[in-house]
Amino acid sequence: MRKLSIAIDGPAGAGKSSVSKILAARLGYAYLDTGAMYRAVTYEVLSKGIFDEIEIVLMINKIDKDAMLVFVDGEDVTPFLRTADVSAHVSWVSAMAGVRRAMVKIQRKQAEKGGIVLDGRDIGTTVLPNADVKIFLTASAHTRAIRRCMELAAAGQDVTPEGIEEDIEKRDYQDSHRAVSPLRQADDAVLLDNGDLTLEETADAIISICREKFPGFDA
Ligand code: C5P
Repeated sequence: MRKLSIAIDGPAGAGKSSVSKILAARLGYAYLDTGAMYRAVTYEVLSKGIFDEIEIVLMINKIDKDAMLVFVDGEDVTPFLRTADVSAHVSWVSAMAGVRRAMVKIQRKQAEKGGIVLDGRDIGTTVLPNADVKIFLTASAHTRAIRRCMELAAAGQDVTPEGIEEDIEKRDYQDSHRAVSPLRQADDAVLLDNGDLTLEETADAIISICREKFPGFDA
């Protein structure tokens, strides 16, 4: 059977990137972390002090995303993508209409051949409205904050669950209330609450959803 395009949207800390990586590895598909692309632009905006939307859009053309790393202008910016500063400003940068237009163009290009898992906020609604399988992955804000806190603490950041919960609630609010492509579940997306599931179990659940929709699907 042909290779599918799988869209995974949802709020911050739902485990979208981790689950998407597992899925892509199990299926032999490509993986595009669109949040990392918005974070890379935000990192460059902050470090170079570029605040003009047109200049920001020009910078987007310098982004290069390989399977797991993000380069801007030849620099590997992957280690800087999840700092508190980038997290605090990324929703502001990604609300700009010009930024979204430029990003969506790159993301569609990457996805045109299928056989890909994309995760983000607007994949099922805007980037790939015809994706074969759409998942809206979520869990309670408290569960998501604890997960994100453990991830950041493991990476050496000094964080508290309370601070992280506040950050993700603020980001979810901004992401779901912006004018262009707000975070929302696509009408034809399957809602998956993974509060009680491990990452592997979440990937299993998504594979079952693919099989239900495409009986010939073999993973
Ligand atoms: O997925 P992650 O939490 O890394 O995304 C960081 C931010 O990038 C989100 O809070 C959102 O503001 C923005 N984003 C977006 N559209 C996407 C992916 C991410 O606006 N498709």
